[in-house]
Amino acid sequence: MPDDDLMQKIVSLCKRRGFVFQSSEIYGGLRSLYDYGPLGAEMKRNIRNLWWRDMVSRRSDVVGIDASIIMSPRVWETSGHVEKFADPLADCRKCQARFRLDLVPKDGDGTVKCPECGSGDLSEARQFNLMFRTNLGPVEDSAHTVYLRPETAQAMFVDYANVQQTYRLKLPFGIAQQGRSFRNEIVVEHFIYRSCEFEQMEMEYFVRPGEDERWHEYWKDFRLDWYGRYGIRKDNLRLRAHRQEEMAHYAKACSDVEYRFPWGFAELEGIANRTDYDLKAHAESSGRDLRYFDQETGERFFPYVIEPAAGVDRTFLAMLVDSYCEEEVKGEKRVVLKLHPEIAPIKVAVLPLVRKEGMPAKAEEVVKMFWAEGINAFYDEKQSIGRRYRRQDEAGTPFCLTVDGDTMKDGTVTIRFRDDMRQERIASEASVEVVKKALAAGA
Ligand code: ATP
Repeated sequence: MPDDDLMQKIVSLCKRRGFVFQSSEIYGGLRSLYDYGPLGAEMKRNIRNLWWRDMVSRRSDVVGIDASIIMSPRVWETSGHVEKFADPLADCRKCQARFRLDLVPKDGDGTVKCPECGSGDLSEARQFNLMFRTNLGPVEDSAHTVYLRPETAQAMFVDYANVQQTYRLKLPFGIAQQGRSFRNEIVVEHFIYRSCEFEQMEMEYFVRPGEDERWHEYWKDFRLDWYGRYGIRKDNLRLRAHRQEEMAHYAKACSDVEYRFPWGFAELEGIANRTDYDLKAHAESSGRDLRYFDQETGERFFPYVIEPAAGVDRTFLAMLVDSYCEEEVKGEKRVVLKLHPEIAPIKVAVLPLVRKEGMPAKAEEVVKMFWAEGINAFYDEKQSIGRRYRRQDEAGTPFCLTVDGDTMKDGTVTIRFRDDMRQERIASEASVEVVKKALAAGA
């Protein structure tokens, strides 16, 4: 299928099935802001939880924090964001299009033309800072200007000493955080891939200088593997090292985990060696000693930092694109999301064949059996069984359980497997184990 088509199909599936809607749609929508609906909110939560589980809960060397979104403006002055977190913005004098100059390919003679109308009559480029500004308190002057954070990472540097001391952490160790970040992006594109409000999952891993390159390799492998573990096809993933000129001012080296989106390979996550840049800068600016004290050698030094910085929304989009399938079944089109069971918003749908003969009550009992195990089960009795299966296929639900006449006699149910539509008869109690096993496969 042509790739533009695929994106359109994903966007329309998201709307139709309640994964993602445009924000404030009843007022005509707002540029590049999105709301996650019931299925989207569940799936996003699964992505966040799995990241947290694998990066924090199941590691003895990483702890988590949850910092405020608004921080002292001095944080952003020190980090370089006030001065440098800007994109070159230009306007076309002919068609009034506004675009990022650095994203438009130059002609052979080095000139740039408007990407909309091809005119060479462009305004001078001006630097446009991507941070959203607001005021803390009722006074609107520059002394009260604060920013919505453009990344979650800075809190890990600013809170570094508090966390390290209260937890007596020894190198190497990581501090992780998830949460919203905000960037006033000039160009918003590809649905939720680039928006102005998004969620990040970031970890700062502090190491001894000299051990940084080894840890950088470790985290590149770990993070690339992580996406594959939750179902993204390996041949659609790659690591790409940054060229010197792409590198952020603080980085010694950086590689992106990229996914083959319908428009080409693009960044899911950046994994940077940030050296001791941030801790040194904050120590100097705050006057606080942020060096690490090595009790064994009595040395004090600034650790180096490896940062895997991922985006929830981009992971979400990659997982939708990667799992989207159209198949022909008995002359009809079947749309199915072959999501990894741990990513799927609903794990199991329980469907009474008909709305009588005690089947709805029995099906509700089965649903509660799953809820008691903390598994997201969904009850659906509307429309024909075939239509209900299709609805669950589109939602990516890995298992459907049908309660029918035989269930009422012998307690067995039909389990239907999403990917190959195979159906088997099993005891309703055994269905919990089948689903649990599938969920444990990625763990
Ligand atoms: P890009 O080059 O695509 O603008 P970036 O290199 O500026 O991204 P980072 O600063 O490394 O991005 O942020 C880490 C992660 O946060 C990105 O890999 C991405 O997953 C996510 N992210 C960054 N900006 C956005 C955005 N505008 N919308 C959605 N996710 C984003």
